[in-house]
Amino acid sequence: MKNIPSFIRELYGSQEFIPLHPPIFIGNEKSYLNETIESTFVSSVGAFVDRFEEQTANLLGVSKSVAVVNGTSALQLALRVAGVQNKDEVITQSLSFVATANAISYLGASPVFIDVDLDTMGLSPHHLNNFLNEYAENREDGCYNKITGKKISACVPMHTFGMMCRVDEISVICDDWNIPLVEDAAEAFGSKLNNQYAGSFGLINAFSFNGNKIITAGGGGLVCSNTISMADKAKHLSTTAKKGHNWEYFHDELGYNFRMPNVNAAIALGQLECLSILISSKKEIFKKYQDFFESSPIKLISPLDNCLWNHWLFSVCLENREERDAFLRYTNENKIMTRPIWNLLFKLPMYKSCYRDDQKNAIYLEDRIVNIPSGAKV
Ligand SMILES: *Cc1c(COP(=O)(O)O)cnc(C)c1O
Repeated sequence: MKNIPSFIRELYGSQEFIPLHPPIFIGNEKSYLNETIESTFVSSVGAFVDRFEEQTANLLGVSKSVAVVNGTSALQLALRVAGVQNKDEVITQSLSFVATANAISYLGASPVFIDVDLDTMGLSPHHLNNFLNEYAENREDGCYNKITGKKISACVPMHTFGMMCRVDEISVICDDWNIPLVEDAAEAFGSKLNNQYAGSFGLINAFSFNGNKIITAGGGGLVCSNTISMADKAKHLSTTAKKGHNWEYFHDELGYNFRMPNVNAAIALGQLECLSILISSKKEIFKKYQDFFESSPIKLISPLDNCLWNHWLFSVCLENREERDAFLRYTNENKIMTRPIWNLLFKLPMYKSCYRDDQKNAIYLEDRIVNIPSGAKV
């Protein structure tokens, strides 16, 4: 462990403090930002919003995308359009950022926590199957939990640190059970499984462009779908459900003010243009980590072979909780920023009474996984 800080410091140059994942602006972000101010179109109507939506849809190979204020709202919106309603159940993983479960709860639904796979750290198709075989029943209007009597109105796998979960297998299971699939692809912009982009597997899906993500809008999110009517519905709900009219204020249902402002879209578009440069740089840095950790008892985490990874956040697996804590203490004391994976969501006060399966893999990973500095260097 002793040589880790000096290796990472060498990797990133000799800065005093090495952050986990700082944003990098090397493209047109500033000039686009200036354009928004000069045009006065700084708010949620503007050319950069349209351009960002168009270019993300083209890149991901989806029919349409809708830019919103953040990833949490994107997920809430996607779930609402997928049909999630008050008192429903939504299947997801407890090994995730709190926003995954919060978005479900904002709609009045409850998360049902199913275990993850050890290798992907994302929702396990095996454990999903086990749960559904035991609890689920198909009725005319969808899938229900036989025990609680509640509708299971969505399944939300998450691609941890940008590494794809087995979303192809999950998609087949969801189809069999008639459960809408919604990807929390917040961390996986630009990642692919079997040459298909994250955020294009589900019925309607969500991304985040927060400051710590692979590309940032300052704050921002994206909803995208291959069903145009669903994306249109998301756009309508994100703009207070206002009917288009030159002057009338008529809103035909309860909507939200979730549209992404043009200033944020300007930054996001500049970032999007640099995505492949950022990913290549991170790939190079990851290779150096691989060489370094090859001879170490600490294991560097890699994605599945059929995953083309955006290399968002790098992580290592320690021997046990004590080793994890020692690693965190040592690196942070040496001004190398490292962070543990999230506290499992069923341990948080608001989610402690939600259903969960045995969570063996999630608990194993919670005790051992730590993120290490993962920024690009260009
Ligand atoms: C970042 C993130 C979100 C939420 O995105 P915000 O833009 O911060 O609201 C949701 N889910 C996961 C897994 C995330 O990492």
